[in-house]
Amino acid sequence: MKRADVIELFTRLRELNPHPTTELVYTTPFELLVAVVLSAQATDVGVNKATKKLYPVANTPQAILDLGEDGLKRYISSIGLFNAKAKNVIALCRLLIEHHAGEVPHNREALEALPGVGRKTANVVLNTAFGEPTMAVDTHIFRVSNRTGLAPGKDVRAVEDKLVKVIPDEFKMDAHHWLILHGRYVCKARKPDCPQCAIRDLCHYKDKTTA
Ligand code: SF4
Repeated sequence: MKRADVIELFTRLRELNPHPTTELVYTTPFELLVAVVLSAQATDVGVNKATKKLYPVANTPQAILDLGEDGLKRYISSIGLFNAKAKNVIALCRLLIEHHAGEVPHNREALEALPGVGRKTANVVLNTAFGEPTMAVDTHIFRVSNRTGLAPGKDVRAVEDKLVKVIPDEFKMDAHHWLILHGRYVCKARKPDCPQCAIRDLCHYKDKTTA
């Protein structure tokens, strides 16, 4: 995609939503980290429903350790893969206490060393909790980047690297949220809503829908 079109694309997405953010509800980096770990293959709405009950009771690594794995499971059992996620969250809390004084590290390597935390989760935390211009490529961003021609790539890492390269600095902080929301609500997986799409004329997708 031409640079002028990239600028136009993000200008339009910014006009529609000047201050985008994650749909996960959180108040601290730790709450965000746990919510993102819980959100793998689950919806933000489902995670919010669980954390709304969990966080008033336990929202620090020590408090969650005190709940124990079974205690934690009682709060998150409505979320897919909750057994494995409970195990990861407990191990993650232990590591945060042992190596990071109970704080979420502001550092990619340390984040990725935590159980259940991969590159995508680390990118979300670095971007949303710490304000770094990272690009966490999820299924929505992957699809939108390929369909539009903004950053085509055969895997998420290729798309991430391309996005970091092509997105102008002024949009980098918020680009991740704009693209996720665009993919979730407009450029949907099964049937993109092309007639209603604000970036239709800039998009290179060959099979645009007409109704
Ligand atoms: S025009 Fe269609 S395919 Fe292109 S970004 Fe918009 S919704 Fe997606």
